[in-house]
Amino acid sequence: MAYLCNLGNGQQVFVYNQDNQTIVTLSGTRPGQQQQSSNGFSTGKWTALPILYRNDGGFILRIESDRGPHYVQLQGTSMSAIGTPPNLETAEVLPMQTVENSPGETMEPMKPMKPMEPLKPMEPLKPMKMGDMEMRMNPMEMRMGNMSMSMGENPPSYRQNFCPQCGAPVKENDRFCANCGHGLS
Ligand SMILES: [Zn+2]
Repeated sequence: MAYLCNLGNGQQVFVYNQDNQTIVTLSGTRPGQQQQSSNGFSTGKWTALPILYRNDGGFILRIESDRGPHYVQLQGTSMSAIGTPPNLETAEVLPMQTVENSPGETMEPMKPMKPMEPLKPMEPLKPMKMGDMEMRMNPMEMRMGNMSMSMGENPPSYRQNFCPQCGAPVKENDRFCANCGHGLS
């Protein structure tokens, strides 16, 4: 459980107690950038909820713990523990709200799940090139220097070079096998 307070100007402070540490995270959103700083203070276990005050110097967080009260001064994006209790008589108490997690606990706040995007039709693959090696897909073709290999739609060329009947070498343009007269398609 963490406590959150909006400081105005898009700045927020998260506070939570972890073992004997009080973790304070300041996050500010400015146009185009997000700043976040987190500090741990050795305060002991909380015995009361933290109180956030606003005074002339900025913001003061009061942590009541089993080791007594602790004060943390928040200014801009920096924070520091104050040894002596500040004068909070004229300070304004800011309302804090409880949140499940602080940014310090989960590193990144969960983003809402995006609905699945419909699958895009496959884009034609570009030939892959590495040095003198080139690879294309569909039909698969590989080129290396002056050597080339292809698969798929184009049958490998060596099939045309032997007669399927007798196995005698034939030329690609032969219509019949010179050895056995088998018709070549
Ligand atoms: Zn033949």
